[in-house]
Amino acid sequence: MRIVILAGGVGGAKLVLGATRAFASADVTVIVNTGDDFRHLGLHVSPDVDTMIYTLSGKSNRELGWGREGETWQFMAALRSLGGEDWFALGDSDLALHVWRTMRLSRGDTLGAITGDVARAWGIAATILPMSDDPVATHVHTVDGILEFQRYFVERRCEPVATGIAFDGADQARPAPGVVAAIESADAILIAPSNPLLSIDPILAVAPIRAALAAARAPRIAVSPIIGGKAVKGPTAKLLADLVRRADNATIAAHYAGLIDGLLVDTADSDEAVGLPTASTATLMVSDDDKARVARAAIAFARATGRR
Ligand code: GDP
Repeated sequence: MRIVILAGGVGGAKLVLGATRAFASADVTVIVNTGDDFRHLGLHVSPDVDTMIYTLSGKSNRELGWGREGETWQFMAALRSLGGEDWFALGDSDLALHVWRTMRLSRGDTLGAITGDVARAWGIAATILPMSDDPVATHVHTVDGILEFQRYFVERRCEPVATGIAFDGADQARPAPGVVAAIESADAILIAPSNPLLSIDPILAVAPIRAALAAARAPRIAVSPIIGGKAVKGPTAKLLADLVRRADNATIAAHYAGLIDGLLVDTADSDEAVGLPTASTATLMVSDDDKARVARAAIAFARATGRR
């Protein structure tokens, strides 16, 4: 059973961890958003790839919801004392990954190859593929001007009203090696309950990935990020409200039209007609058991669609 999951950071990593618990980890391939990648203090930071790596290797910080467990912050304290930019927090052990990645990129290694090596070093059996080795940069157009994604998300806390989102470089970006082949040979394809506009759209903006998904023979199921008419966390609801006016499952279904065969919704929302087949389960993933259960429900739904 080859399972491919399109994912962003935290919401995505929960479903992917669940899939590795419910099925054989080695059968799981995750295609991760890199539109959030940016250079900070001279380092290449890849937030969604890092979240996936930390989660699947058991190193994630469950209290903070991002970064590494048992983190220390001496680097940030020293940086602050120098008057350095401190709006983006880099923990001491997190820093090692960014330094290592930046050093290898400067030697000519690809993001995909480096990610694979880190995953192997940390005992991750699932395959983590960045969507592209080429640069793609998410920019949020707001009433206060165009903001790089991290400036909008972290520094400005998503406050400025968004008027649009652009994925600079996506039209020239090629899928990373293995991405299209994984979609073509999958037995089931899931879209994680990641932010559709900020985490999944950058992946779909890489045209050959979108085309492969549209043409895939395998059943394709999205897990909705909406629970009880609201996004679980982060700016999904606000952005949907700013840009699409409505934050509900019909909006999510319409957003993925032509790319999915069904939407897995929360039981609280199971009465809503969304214009697509739906299945429901409690989709809030707190414990590891929840994560495995939601992954199982998504795969059972995929199988029930009757596609390959
Ligand atoms: P980010 O890149 O770290 O912001 O994370 P993602 O884009 O992968 O995930 C953020 C989205 O995941 C938010 O829109 C949440 O609504 C959704 N989300 C987070 N946790 C859960 C959960 O337990 N269940 C569901 N259904 N959605 C979740």
